[in-house]
Amino acid sequence: MRFVNRGTLFGSAMGQQYVTSRLKAVSVTAALPGKVKIVEVGPRDGLQNEKTIVPTEAKINLIDMLSETGLPVIEATSFVSPKWVPQVRVNGHGISRRPGVSYPVLTPQPEGIQAAVKAGASEVAIFGAASELFSKKNINCSVDESLQRFDEVMIAAKEAGVPVRGYVSCVVGCPYEGKVAPEKVAHVMAKRLYSMGCYEISLGDTIGVGTPGSMSEMLLAVSREVPVSALAVHCHDTYGQALANILVALQMGVSVVDSSVAGLGGYVIYMLHGLGIKTVRKTSSKVAQATCKL
Ligand SMILES: [Zn+2]
Repeated sequence: MRFVNRGTLFGSAMGQQYVTSRLKAVSVTAALPGKVKIVEVGPRDGLQNEKTIVPTEAKINLIDMLSETGLPVIEATSFVSPKWVPQVRVNGHGISRRPGVSYPVLTPQPEGIQAAVKAGASEVAIFGAASELFSKKNINCSVDESLQRFDEVMIAAKEAGVPVRGYVSCVVGCPYEGKVAPEKVAHVMAKRLYSMGCYEISLGDTIGVGTPGSMSEMLLAVSREVPVSALAVHCHDTYGQALANILVALQMGVSVVDSSVAGLGGYVIYMLHGLGIKTVRKTSSKVAQATCKL
């Protein structure tokens, strides 16, 4: 139970008298999930924003360190740039896989599935956008074409026996089209990806323009089409709204949150633990221990 001040707290001109209005007791934690799955996307999403190319060795080290923190899912890389995954395999000094940790690989092309599986990916991911212009500029095809391509990816993934996670980009705003209608996110992408067989749909505020207002509107529309248990949120912090947006998603029943190490990851886990929500399993890693003590 937390107390929220409904009015102002201020001092008199002399600084001697303080006036407070009544406090309203509200339960912040009542509707929250007891446990949240953290999907660490830093090695893929975080590093792809770096201007310099991160050496493979450094990426492997980062993933290995993340594995020790007790995270259940670490998105290892993207097969959009096909160089990295084969390199890990050919050199024979790939990541040290931890039992119980899943290492998905972003694989937007059907041809990538076999190679990803050979490289050891136990799970793959695809990404689409509800915004036509974002789709054209980022994945070089229209929304419809992207969905056709995903159909093929799903068939290849089924044959290979790997589960597929679906990402929807620009769920509240697009850098080219501005505001994205919640119905479009729900019907054009989220519902389609889910009915194709994606076991989880990660809703991405790719440019971080969302607020708790627009996020809740979007989540409401999507949850009419996809069970909330299959939804994840992926919030960028461009305008400092990510934690507030995540909190709103949790209050609406979402229990999977994407995080990015050295970006928002630490703060997400800090907030979740502060709310009494379980996240990563305890390990001997100093990072995990420090976080768990908070
Ligand atoms: Zn992202």
